[in-house]
Amino acid sequence: MRTNPEKIGATLSHLARAMKTPTIAKVWEQLANTAREQGWTHEEYLAAVLERQVADREANGTSLRISTARFPAMKTLEDFNPDFQPTLRRDLIAHLGTTSFIPKADNVILLGPPGVGKTHLAIGLGIRACQSGYPVLFDTAAGWINRLSVAHQRHGGLAAEIKRLRRYRLLIIDELGYLPLDADSANLFFQLVASRYEQGSLLITSNLPFSRWGEIFADDTIAAAMIDRLIHHSEVLTLDGESYRTRTRRELLEKNTNITT
Ligand code: ADP
Ligand code: MG
Repeated sequence: MRTNPEKIGATLSHLARAMKTPTIAKVWEQLANTAREQGWTHEEYLAAVLERQVADREANGTSLRISTARFPAMKTLEDFNPDFQPTLRRDLIAHLGTTSFIPKADNVILLGPPGVGKTHLAIGLGIRACQSGYPVLFDTAAGWINRLSVAHQRHGGLAAEIKRLRRYRLLIIDELGYLPLDADSANLFFQLVASRYEQGSLLITSNLPFSRWGEIFADDTIAAAMIDRLIHHSEVLTLDGESYRTRTRRELLEKNTNITT
């Protein structure tokens, strides 16, 4: 079959548009030149064109998921230095990083004092989830309560909001425990946790150990019922040690004043 090059170009542009594969429209010509120069087979050329399209689509999907997840900062698992957390099991972090807990609707709970890297790990795991193709939504506990109470003010709004949240395979709830919740907020939060039970993953960070969650919810029974549902299928990681923020600041100061400890 011999078709003139201009006509084939127009046909390919049209077909790429119809298939919604813009990368093919962008790369077919340049790859065809390379293929001719290097003597690729037809199959090799087709595979090269399709590979570029698939790679672009995956990259676009990931960046879209990352931007809709509303992470407060970009922190990666690769940037998390496990040497600062000697008691934390590295294999567990690596395992969580594979995001295999998400299709099982398991939860992850990160506990520990301020500055030990809970938010960093939460974002890092959230980004991995986005890369694995799972929609993620991040907010602080206060942010989630606010969102749920706004929805609750509309008739039937809470149920609709909780249903809408089902499309996120991972919800990240950061900083649970910094602010105590009143009875209404505790109830809203409980409904969110109950709705996710065995349906979708939650990743929660808290500065308080479970034994003190009664203080957050001003009610030991609600706290116990919540913990029960959360930890039934979950990994609980406790981080400790000195705050990374104070530690790096102290090390900087020591370096500049030549004090050794
Ligand atoms: P937390 O949420 O526990 O209060 P953050 O995750 O906000 O702590 O950590 C405080 C700062 O220290 C962040 O900038 C974070 O990136 C950094 N950080 C904490 N732990 C580590 C670590 N192990 N490796 C690299 N950076 C860390
Ligand atoms: Mg934090």
